[in-house]
Amino acid sequence: KADRAMYQAKESGAKRFRFYNHEMDERESARQTLRADFQNAIKNHELCLHFQPIINLRTHAINSLEALVRWNHPQKGLLSPGEFLNDIMGTELIVSLGETVFELVFSCLSKWKDQGILIPVSVNVDLLQIKQPDFHQKFVRLLHRYPDIPPHLLEIEILETTSAEDVPNLREVLDGLHELGIRLSIDDFGTGYSSLSYLKHIPFDTLKIDQSFVIGMLENRENLAIIESISSLAKIFGRNVVAEGMEQMSYSPMLMAMGCDLAQGYAISRPLPPERFLEWRQRWINKDHSEGVSPFLPL
Ligand code: C2E
Ligand code: MG
Ligand code: MG
Ligand code: MG
Repeated sequence: KADRAMYQAKESGAKRFRFYNHEMDERESARQTLRADFQNAIKNHELCLHFQPIINLRTHAINSLEALVRWNHPQKGLLSPGEFLNDIMGTELIVSLGETVFELVFSCLSKWKDQGILIPVSVNVDLLQIKQPDFHQKFVRLLHRYPDIPPHLLEIEILETTSAEDVPNLREVLDGLHELGIRLSIDDFGTGYSSLSYLKHIPFDTLKIDQSFVIGMLENRENLAIIESISSLAKIFGRNVVAEGMEQMSYSPMLMAMGCDLAQGYAISRPLPPERFLEWRQRWINKDHSEGVSPFLPL
């Protein structure tokens, strides 16, 4: 009997092991396929950008746009970063993605410039890309290729979660970018473990309050306290603060009262392809904002 039990345990153990192995293999092979596809995506121009407006709640002016990458996959359709970014993180591919995104941003800014529209754009940049030894040089070359785009129109967003560990290594690159006139945002602020002295050492222009604090802010005292603290921190430092994930227009007066005048979120607009953004912009400009920011129906 004991023998038999042992035999069964061994057998099920082996099965479990095989099953586990099999799942890992599948996961790994899906990742490899995605990476191979992604390599082609760059060559075949399958990446594009959607833009999400950041507005000033007080003046209703369009402050800037955030560029968010999308992948027009030939089989799977339009993919969001959540569906592919993880699998290319930590590889060369994230660097190629970043370079492609910069190309797309500059080409878009330049097209808009020709139509008389000058608008600041913020771009998410992965740490691995910033840490490339030729990052600064490549950026300078890009600026030379687009002499009609003033560098101060560009803002780079780095994640608080990943940048905090790297302050000493980052400082030089970020100072270099700052000297070029490029602006710097700290993204998803409040979710990392940066100490306050980190802020002293990073030449940032903007703090972006992570959407997790904003989305359900009225249901939660702690979230309000965090939003208010980050806003006053930004104010004391003399920097900008943006609330991400404003899904309700009714949050506007409260955000302003807490010292946060800039916001981005579905209530204002979802991220839009460039042409759709121009339509949105026209409607936003023509809109009567005298009643304050009111629900703005999606297209
Ligand atoms: P993020 O930089 O924090 O961007 C904000 C994300 O929140 C975007 O998701 C946006 O669509 C979404 N969002 C905006 N307003 C709302 C709202 O009111 N409610 C909710 N629930 N979500 C909202 P998306 O476009 O899927 O991008 C996800 C993340 O992928 C970005 O987060 C950023 O970290 C990363 N990412 C996007 N584009 C790039 C890129 O070009 N390069 C790199 N390295 N990362 C990127
Ligand atoms: Mg961002
Ligand atoms: Mg964010
Ligand atoms: Mg985020």
